[in-house]
Amino acid sequence: ENLDLTAEIKEIVDRLQPRFRKKGLELNTGLPPEAVYVRADSDHLEQILSNLLDNALKYTPEGGRVAVGLLPGEIEVIVVVEDNGIGIPAEDLPRIFERFYRVDKARSRKLGGTGLGLAIVKHLVSANGGRVWVESEPGRGSKFYFSLPAVEEVEETGNYGRDKI
Ligand code: ATP
Ligand code: MG
Repeated sequence: ENLDLTAEIKEIVDRLQPRFRKKGLELNTGLPPEAVYVRADSDHLEQILSNLLDNALKYTPEGGRVAVGLLPGEIEVIVVVEDNGIGIPAEDLPRIFERFYRVDKARSRKLGGTGLGLAIVKHLVSANGGRVWVESEPGRGSKFYFSLPAVEEVEETGNYGRDKI
């Protein structure tokens, strides 16, 4: 399935915007003006982004900022979900994509959840041919990246082989 990632992200972000506003968080996007095509399942994409944005919402204190960016490429397109929340200690980073792994059990229990969100993200991203990784610093925030295979824009005019004027 070919998806316009720019449009899909806009739609998902618009839908989640009220939950962020309610907590006093900014939710912004950094998207190119044009369509960016990837080969991915739209339900999977929605689940991936919802899980990452759910974490950004949960682990960023009131007044914070969350942003979704898109970095187009010829082979893969990269999406980044960035927050300036509580961050993740370096020693926990290698394990956060494991099922049921949660940083600081006491803190996590208070916020609720099962520790499956990121395991699902990892599973769905790789099922769609992408990769997922994270950069984070305690007290400064986190950046979750995932990639999806790029699709060359479909030629609409059908004038293959002819020079464009
Ligand atoms: P669930 O997603 O099942 O509701 P969860 O959010 O605890 O529960 P994951 O989404 O898998 O589980 O995340 C695993 C752990 O990684 C979290 O418990 C949290 O400690 C840490 N984490 C994930 N995202 C962030 C983030 N944006 N900022 C800080 N910590 C995070
Ligand atoms: Mg989660």
